[in-house]
Amino acid sequence: MEQPTIVIVGAGFGGLAAAKALKNSPAEIILIDRTNHHLFQPLLYQVATAVLTPSQIATPIRSILHKQRNTTVVLGEVTGVEKDQKYVLVSDADRQNVPVAYDYLILATGATHSYFGHKEFETFAPGLKSLADAEAARNKILEAFELAEAEEDPTRHRELLTFVLVGAGPTGVEMAGALAVLVRTTLKSDFRRINPASARIVLVDMAPRVLSPFSENLSAAARARLENLGVEVRLGHSVDQINADGVVVAGERIASKTVIWTAGVAPSQAGKWLNVETDRAGRVRIQEDLTVPGRPEIFVIGDTASLDQDGKPLPGVAQVAMQQGRYAGKLIHKRITAGPPPGPFSYFDKGNMAVVGKGFAVLQSGKVQLSGFGAWLAWAAIHLQFLATSSLRLSVFLQWVWTYLTGQRGSRLIVNNHAPETAALPADTAIKAVAASK
Ligand SMILES: Cc1cc2nc3c(=O)[nH]c(=O)nc-3n(C[C@H](O)[C@H](O)[C@H](O)COP(=O)(O)OP(=O)(O)OC[C@H]3O[C@@H](n4cnc5c(N)ncnc54)[C@H](O)[C@@H]3O)c2cc1C
Repeated sequence: MEQPTIVIVGAGFGGLAAAKALKNSPAEIILIDRTNHHLFQPLLYQVATAVLTPSQIATPIRSILHKQRNTTVVLGEVTGVEKDQKYVLVSDADRQNVPVAYDYLILATGATHSYFGHKEFETFAPGLKSLADAEAARNKILEAFELAEAEEDPTRHRELLTFVLVGAGPTGVEMAGALAVLVRTTLKSDFRRINPASARIVLVDMAPRVLSPFSENLSAAARARLENLGVEVRLGHSVDQINADGVVVAGERIASKTVIWTAGVAPSQAGKWLNVETDRAGRVRIQEDLTVPGRPEIFVIGDTASLDQDGKPLPGVAQVAMQQGRYAGKLIHKRITAGPPPGPFSYFDKGNMAVVGKGFAVLQSGKVQLSGFGAWLAWAAIHLQFLATSSLRLSVFLQWVWTYLTGQRGSRLIVNNHAPETAALPADTAIKAVAASK
């Protein structure tokens, strides 16, 4: 009998968990992603602040699944879904909108940045969602110190060495803490004309407290820790304006050449492709078995899906995506092997964690609330456990120990493209140079 084809779009936390759950299924699985790697997003801020290298938080999807014989990995961008004819459209560098047929479809395409209707902010305040974003942020941060060191006019140092982070959720808080440690320890004796420790780090949010998913006590502990590290925390006001000169918050201009967006996220295009009901943010409304109403063969999971449990929408976190991925894989396996279907999906909340600088984290799991070094150890152990391979676990562990003991970071590189040298010469000189070389 011909085996069914299961197409999974997205090899993030949800899609990869679904593919792994189907490893023993009598099916052909096609896993499509527009990047060739599975990315561990919770550690992106450590690439942006030069603690880790990109290859320490991302693994080629192909190598993760190299032993899974029923799964083919395809590098391509899905651009649409044809629900009635049951195929997705895939484009790559060579071919556009190639149809790939499915019997079952799992959409796990995650989320992107949301600028809350201010798309114009994007140019001046890049976000942190991909490896390329993290490298760009790292370049920008390290470059600011280089520019200030080269700048003879000390009045310009202030704006060059002011870093503004917009959004005081876990990403903004973790990034602010890591940046504060970078400037006060790692960089402290590397410059001659400037004092990196004088850098100003401002964390802005319209919410009344940092880390709003956490309890008020933990949120206060995180804020106190940030302030202790020298971070200015500005809460209760949204950002009115962001441009090349900095930001305006509650009417006050903060001059800065480095603004990073760590605020909202918006779901992928899955809702538009399917043309089905979405929530206000645009996430696809799914049923308790994670399928789209009226389409038992289409599953939508993770950050791009919207499902309520106990009267509240499930949060956009890795655990939700992974548990949904495993559930969708299991349900499809039962269907194709004619086994009894599992009960409705139920999310088991293992808790939240966030790191604030060196050796300090906050942790909330059920009734347990912890802050300090113990929480940081738990954070480190859990994050190591969820990295994709044992070689990454070892390399990240060693880097953390080294950074903890010495303050040194693994990847303080500014990696930029340079124009070819001839392009920098006046036109006639360049022409003569080319002629002479013939
Ligand atoms: C900076 C940052 C820090 C975070 N920290 C934490 C944390 O500490 N704890 C936590 O639980 N959660 C954290 N999260 C959230 C967590 O990473 C997400 O909830 C989780 O990744 C969602 O999984 P997903 O599978 O839905 O999407 P993702 O993991 O984002 O995967 C989506 C995949 O789909 C691919 N894709 C997207 N569109 C297409 C397309 N059109 N065609 C082909 N492929 C496509 C992408 O390349 C990607 O590989 C963080 C997120 C960020 C950005």
